[in-house]
Amino acid sequence: MDSALANPPHSTDGGVKVFRGKEELRSALSEARRAGSAIGLVPTMGYLHDGHLSLLRAARAECDVVVMSLFVNPSQFGPGEDLDRYPRDEERDLRLAAEAGVDFVYAPPVDAVYPEGFSAHVEVEGALTETLDGDPARRGPGHFRGVTTVVAKLFNSVQPDVAYFGQKDAQQAAVIRRMARDLDFPVRIQVLPTVREADGLAMSSRNAYLGPADRERATALSRALRAAEEAAHAESLPAGLEAARRELDAAGIEPEYLEARDAEELSPVAELNGRPVLVAVAARVGGARLIDNVLIEPRQT
Ligand code: AMP
Repeated sequence: MDSALANPPHSTDGGVKVFRGKEELRSALSEARRAGSAIGLVPTMGYLHDGHLSLLRAARAECDVVVMSLFVNPSQFGPGEDLDRYPRDEERDLRLAAEAGVDFVYAPPVDAVYPEGFSAHVEVEGALTETLDGDPARRGPGHFRGVTTVVAKLFNSVQPDVAYFGQKDAQQAAVIRRMARDLDFPVRIQVLPTVREADGLAMSSRNAYLGPADRERATALSRALRAAEEAAHAESLPAGLEAARRELDAAGIEPEYLEARDAEELSPVAELNGRPVLVAVAARVGGARLIDNVLIEPRQT
């Protein structure tokens, strides 16, 4: 096929304009910006589920122009991770984006984001990216460097007024907040609650890797977090972590990490202390590495 046809500057799908290049995206957005429109950005790696859709709907409700980025970002995958098999279905994603009222989808090819010679990075250093990272060979500072670099590039290309992220990836949200604050990105970071399946499993594109037996076992993660929250309030935070571990043990799940952290700083906390505490878990279940968390809010006594 003629490459100009295979890769047009933008095409439409049910009202959504699809952009492959940042220049075309920028010029389309500059018109909207000149008109005073508020621009909302929802970064995604695609294979959309209701978690993504909740972010898109919030953006649609609050902004004049909604941009969804669709990019499976190689630089946030570690060696041996699931980059090659990460689920992709662009046609379905574009249909769902159109239904959610997205105006522009930015879906660049990898070599447009990382051209030859690419050598600049954005990195949030210290505790925010070092804690919770479990096996550093899989997830850790290198992963978050990939995330912050691509999100910084998206912020520069889209220049959104508001950017939407999910609490499901709590550490990612904290790291991006810090990046935006420290580097003066003029964007409001909006973090929305985790959307779950009816049985509690946090929605994730990676749930597609779960066969029926592992899909059932995976519900132990959200059960563990609920148990942690209840026991933390009823008894103590350590009792909460023990209750969570018992739920995971019962399902034969050995967590990569199960941690209680200050929700903002991600510094370790030993007890509920009047500030929101994040209890976060990561675990391999069958072919999927899953993460989930609960935010334990202080209760008035
Ligand atoms: P991803 O495509 O997995 O990179 O996710 C794109 C955005 O959707 C991120 O801000 C995620 O935190 C958010 N997200 C993913 N899963 C959920 C969920 N179950 N509920 C709410 N937001 C989610």
